[in-house]
Amino acid sequence: MPDPIERLTALFEKFPGIGPRQAQRFVQFLLRSSPSVRRDFIDSVRALGGAVHQCSECMRFFSGDTPICGICGNPSRNHAYLAVVASDADLFALERSGTYSGMYYVLGGTISLAGEKTNGLRLKQLLDSVPERSELREVILAFPANPEGDATAVRVREEISKGYPDLRVTALGRGLSTGSELEYADPETLRSALDNRK
Ligand SMILES: [Zn+2]
Repeated sequence: MPDPIERLTALFEKFPGIGPRQAQRFVQFLLRSSPSVRRDFIDSVRALGGAVHQCSECMRFFSGDTPICGICGNPSRNHAYLAVVASDADLFALERSGTYSGMYYVLGGTISLAGEKTNGLRLKQLLDSVPERSELREVILAFPANPEGDATAVRVREEISKGYPDLRVTALGRGLSTGSELEYADPETLRSALDNRK
């Protein structure tokens, strides 16, 4: 059994965007935390295995016993709009902005520019789901304002207009500064990006 500090550091290093120094800081934080904070952390990680699963409509992860999440199951949401986002975090960013009341679809990432690969993206599933969305009038592409996000928007727009030429497809206006991730944008910026979509 390796040293618990080294073991936990190695685990944190597997997180996206986390290097060895940040991983060590997380471990130091937990070492200084009270036992109740550590217990809360352990319990939350353990609970991910049980109650959390993927929504069969928007594909985000949520905790609950129903097959679809609270957003997809909410009868007051507007089914005419479908925002296609890269990640669960981007979905929550739009949700926090408080102006969007349509539906969502989590694509599962963006196209990697090395080879324009769409591997692992749920593009085909998205396209196949369009006929089931009888009230759908507009697909809003809400990808990060970076080259990968732009490439993904181009590709999704192409595929939708190929399969469903009458469906309106818009993209978030670029009030978002270039390179900014949706999940870090403030609600006001997201609101204007939504208003200025084209
Ligand atoms: Zn859902």
